[in-house]
Order: sequence, then structure tokens, then C-alpha cells
Amino acid sequence: MKKRIYADNAATTKLSAAAAKAMQIYSSEEYANPSSLHSLGRNSKKILENARKRIAATIDAEPSEIYFTSGGTESDNLALKGSAFCYPFKKKRIITSSIEHHAILRSTEFLATMGYDIFYLPVDEFGLVNALDLEKAINDDTVLISVMLANNEIGTIEPIFELARIAHKHNIPFHTDAVQAVGHIPISVKELGVDMLSASAHKFNGPRGVGFLYIRKGTNLTPLMNGGGQEAGLRAGTENLPAIMGMTLALEESYNKISQNKDYLLKLEEIILQGLSENNIDYRINGGKEKLPGLISLSFNGADGEKILHRLDLANICISTGSACNSREKEISHVLKAINLEEQYAKGTIRISLGIDNTEDEAREILNAILKDAKRFW
Ligand code: PLP
Repeated sequence: MKKRIYADNAATTKLSAAAAKAMQIYSSEEYANPSSLHSLGRNSKKILENARKRIAATIDAEPSEIYFTSGGTESDNLALKGSAFCYPFKKKRIITSSIEHHAILRSTEFLATMGYDIFYLPVDEFGLVNALDLEKAINDDTVLISVMLANNEIGTIEPIFELARIAHKHNIPFHTDAVQAVGHIPISVKELGVDMLSASAHKFNGPRGVGFLYIRKGTNLTPLMNGGGQEAGLRAGTENLPAIMGMTLALEESYNKISQNKDYLLKLEEIILQGLSENNIDYRINGGKEKLPGLISLSFNGADGEKILHRLDLANICISTGSACNSREKEISHVLKAINLEEQYAKGTIRISLGIDNTEDEAREILNAILKDAKRFW
């Protein structure tokens, strides 16, 4: 059987060998609870705080500003609901974008049912939020602005520095969902000027079910998990030390090779994009000029994205139609709707998300499989 080609790295990534090894050690050797008072527990606590320090260093934060969570969804929920619940029973405004991940959008929909006033910023054809739109959306009741750093379907990188500056001009905290960006593009929370930032380990070759929320010192949040006093009282529950250590190793590995990985992924992308451009196919490349390396969103006129996915799957190539979370929905995704993509293109959309384990030969095979599909079916 032909070797499988995995090009769905925006959905999740393969666990790195170093992360897997760390997880094994901290599951079966250094396994004590960091809250235990005996020497083994104190040692686990030291390891946990060291991980916090190492993670903080990769995004230019202070260790005390890193809060471990169960992943991107929890970090997003904590940022949004934790901010909203600081103002209970008040009709406060939260501003976000119309192309956020469902971890944000379902949270804002829930908050709307509680009476919060949610404002969704539009985006342009590239998926970019406009700073002037944000200025206009802010009112005296605004308690939080949340705009993602990089979009999971089309890869667009948002102008976070500019948006956060506007938020701060009005004394409003700013959160960014950086789940797709952390480990893939250099990030300094200080330079970006954000107050909160969500990350998830399984997007950068770390384990699933673990992530963190960066919370700038002085930012007000109500905890969503009540229990023990872990994570400075903001997120109760015994810390998942094996997963946290796996995440730490994976993040350091990604950061040590961040520009090398970017160049490599761009080279793989180029093989596919160059090959497509040399053929007589009517298609669009979605996303902004500034985008995540390795993520290509393509819309083929008159094709059916889901059918392409299944036919490529039969050829042992794993891609996606959009984000993994809404790929079972038959409707055109909210992101493609927000960028105003014409229906005949939107329906023929696929997302190829290349990773560092993909080879140049694999990129060529993906290209050839698409060209073959185009010839036979569209
Ligand atoms: N935010 C974005 C932009 C994502 O792409 C994802 C996952 O696809 C999430 C949040 C949710 O992260 P997790 O799977 O760690 O809960």
C-alpha cells in the first residue's frame, strides 16, 4: 500500500519524539502531584515552574503570566467568559471578528444568551479585520476585544499590534486566539501588545489536551474552574505535568527552528502553487499576503471540495475542506462567507496544511493528485 501523506497539520500534528519521551518520563518516573508536600511533590512543582518559565521565554512573557489549560478551547473560553463574568448582569459589549474559531464564536453566542452584547467585526476579501471598523464598534460598555492572530481555515495573519493599540487607547483589554500561530511564527506578547493569548500544544507537535493562556499581569479574570488553588487560583485541577512537559519540549523545538521551518514550508507550498499555476485551472488562493507558512486554502471553480477530499483520501492523501471542527458541516464555512467568496468557488474549497514532516516528493504527489482529479472530475 502507498505510504500515507498527511497534509492536515492545521487540524493536528504528529507528536515529536522529544515530547513523547518527556511525557513518558513524567508519567512513570517523575509522576508526583506538584501540590504534594513531600520531596517528590516538591520536585514536580519545581519541574512545573521550570516549564512555565521555558514557555514564557518563547513568547516573551513573564513565567507568572502563563496559565496551563486543557488546550485552545479552554483558553479561549477562559479569556472570554472570564472577562465577561467580571461584569455579571450588566449588558456589556464584547467585540470579536466574524472569522474566529468556534471556540470563540460558540462562547460569544452563549454569552449573548446571558444578555452580553456581542459585536462581530467584518473582514475584507483576504480575511483581514480593519482597524477603523474596530474604532467604530467600540462603545463605553466594551469590556473585551478578541481577534485571532492567524485564521485556521485560510491562514490570514491579522494586524494584532494595530488592533491591540486601539483597544488600549480606550482602556479595553485585548485577547488573541493564537492557537494556529504559536510555534509557527515568532511571537512576542510585549511587541504585539496583547493582554491575553491562547495556545494549544497539539498544533505544534505537542500532545493533545494541553495548552496555555497568557494573561498579562493586572488583567482581570473570573475563574471558570473552581476547586484547588492551582494556577494561582485561576484554573483549579491537578496540573497535567506529563502533557505540560511534552508541550514545553515541542514548543522549544519549534521555536529553535522557526525560520528554518518557515522557509522549508514555503518551499513545499511553492511546489504545489507553481504546479497549479502552470495548468489551465480556474481557482483562487484564499487568505492574506501575511499568512501562516504551509497552510494553503484553494477554491476550485465548479468543483466539490468534499469530493476532492474523499478522492484524495482514497489515494492515501489526507487534507481538509476547511477547519477540522466544521468539516462535517455541508454548508459553506463562516470564514468563506465572511470573505465573500462566490459560491461556485466556495463549494470547491480544500485546505492543505503542510508540516515539517512532509517532503518535497509528497508536495509533488499532492499536486499531481489534484491535477488528476481536476482532469477527471471537474
Ligand atoms: N482556536 C483555533 C484558531 C483553532 O484552530 C483551534 C483548533 O483547531 C482551537 C482554537 C481549539 O483548540 P483545541 O483543539 O486545543 O481545543
